[in-house]
Amino acid sequence: MSLGLYVHIPFCLQKCPYCDFFSVPYDSRASYSYADAVIRNAEYYKERFDTIYFGGGTPSAAWWDVCRIMGKLMFTDGAEITVEANPNTLTQESLLSLKNSGVNRLSIGVQSFSNGELRALGRTHTSEDATSSVKLALECGFKNISVDLMLGLSGQTPDSVRRSIKVLAGLGVHHVSAYMLKIEPKTPFASMNLKFPDENTTAQIYLAAAAEFEKHGFVQYEISNFAKEGCECRHNLKYWRSGEYLGIGTAAHSFYNSDGSSCPQRFFVMSDIREFVKSNIQNIIVTEKEEINFENYAMLKLRLSEGLTFAECEKFGLRKEAMMKRCKLVPPDYLKITDTGIAITREGFLVSNQIIRKLTTEPVVQTVE
Ligand code: SF4
Repeated sequence: MSLGLYVHIPFCLQKCPYCDFFSVPYDSRASYSYADAVIRNAEYYKERFDTIYFGGGTPSAAWWDVCRIMGKLMFTDGAEITVEANPNTLTQESLLSLKNSGVNRLSIGVQSFSNGELRALGRTHTSEDATSSVKLALECGFKNISVDLMLGLSGQTPDSVRRSIKVLAGLGVHHVSAYMLKIEPKTPFASMNLKFPDENTTAQIYLAAAAEFEKHGFVQYEISNFAKEGCECRHNLKYWRSGEYLGIGTAAHSFYNSDGSSCPQRFFVMSDIREFVKSNIQNIIVTEKEEINFENYAMLKLRLSEGLTFAECEKFGLRKEAMMKRCKLVPPDYLKITDTGIAITREGFLVSNQIIRKLTTEPVVQTVE
């Protein structure tokens, strides 16, 4: 059985002004009791995982507790085990300890290799820090390293993003997640009246980045994810292919068969560290009980370059002809239609939300009897 585990570690050294993820300042005592609560929950669920992802927050800031948690988790041979890290939190000691605990993949929050862009983003590390961290991780024996890049940054251009990609390709990283900066309400960025590239320039930055990745041997497998052959993130693929995963920790989401019923449920845990630490077992809030539906399944699947097959649609009672009628509502350049299915093109990914809405929620015209 294939089951993923997401562990949320809600501690960061410093809050970034654009970030709305749930995190609080790192504190070693708080981190210790939080890790104890994660371990209690892992022992309660008694599962064996084939992917584990420590996200946050900045799990690498709490690396000692991540290693303690790792010591108590059960995982299969060959499991993919990822820890999110920030460049200024990685040392030889932390990297070797994580590796010895079983962690075999790092996701490093580089965001850009331009110091001007990093300053404008309010990051505390420099391009040189990021380069040293990636090199150190490689020297410590990590063979699967992902970096995060951000697109649409203040002062960013298609050329500057190409330069960042050349640097990371030269370093030999295996995977890149390149997300568009989104100004979230209630973050300091939202009230700072900053100047960002307009929509047209942001689209050019995205297309330039995707082409540059391709030039350096990265294959686009999702709207924002690019990988060298065989280095796609197996854990995140579970999310997009509606595979099962359990989330432990504050703000962690799950799609998991928690009560032995035949279908998995979607649930999450409140963003309340005190409550999580004092509860014997995490309190979950169920958001979706019913069987997986077509809208949710297709919405996730169409994010992938592999797209959605007609056979998958038929499982939900939707014939190929009905899907083809929906496809007519989308400009032809935005879709790749083959005998077996539908995928969104790179240009289409720029307006993926609108396309996915058309393909998943337009009235069903014909169903399988
Ligand atoms: S390090 Fe990551 S999680 Fe922490 S505040 Fe910055 S962006 Fe958010």
